[in-house]
Amino acid sequence: MGKPLWSLTMGRGENRVLYSAAHHANEWITATLLLYFTEALAGAFARGEKLFGQSAAEILDYARLCLVPLVDPDGVDLVTGELQAGQSYDAAAAIAARRPEIPFPSGWKANIRGVDLNLQYPAMWDEARRIKTAAGFTGPAPANWVGPAPLSAPESRALAALTRRFDPALTLAYHTQGEVIYWRFADIEIPGAQDIAGTFSAVSGYAAAETPYASSFAGFRDWFIQSFRRPGFTVEAGRGVNPLPLSDFEGIWRANRGILTLGALVT
Ligand SMILES: [Zn+2]
Repeated sequence: MGKPLWSLTMGRGENRVLYSAAHHANEWITATLLLYFTEALAGAFARGEKLFGQSAAEILDYARLCLVPLVDPDGVDLVTGELQAGQSYDAAAAIAARRPEIPFPSGWKANIRGVDLNLQYPAMWDEARRIKTAAGFTGPAPANWVGPAPLSAPESRALAALTRRFDPALTLAYHTQGEVIYWRFADIEIPGAQDIAGTFSAVSGYAAAETPYASSFAGFRDWFIQSFRRPGFTVEAGRGVNPLPLSDFEGIWRANRGILTLGALVT
């Protein structure tokens, strides 16, 4: 819909890390999480304090954090009710009407054109297409359509370009829900990745797990691991039915502040 995709960069260190959130529309609470973390880190720095036991000044000396809190702004506006009646809303409603089993708009994960932005990355995209086609997702849909080609959606393309430019040592991609951390792609061994997943698991209480086969391809983490051969993680924050209510935020913040803080320091 022509809206900008925002990124925010903090810190002056050499250790570049990139955190993204809200690839999926009805997982918008993850955007709030990244913004809240940004404010907490900036506030701790300004007051000369620590965040999760780590000096904010030392974090920002050691690391440079690039935060992309809202990968799918149009889809999020649809789910939250910000997008009101009009051409774009009507087009999305028509797409949703073909999948009556997915509640509208609360079940919407895709961008406003019905492309799932986390099935867009060139990492075994053909296998993702095969699986989703077999499940009946062959065109624009509220979720699970891979799109006509890898990186055809402007949102995914922009995040891939930003990632190449920023060249991070580590990435976190925030989703909801399930309280689980995924750290692997295919059979690629990334030195240290499993240990880092263990650290994240210990500070959050989330499980570090293998990715289920049907959602193992064409995601941002998959592409980052394959292309950069560096640790990339998907965090499924919270537990319940998406979109998780704002009343869950406090618990999500408590569980994830350690991951967000240590993510800047573990590489
Ligand atoms: Zn997701």
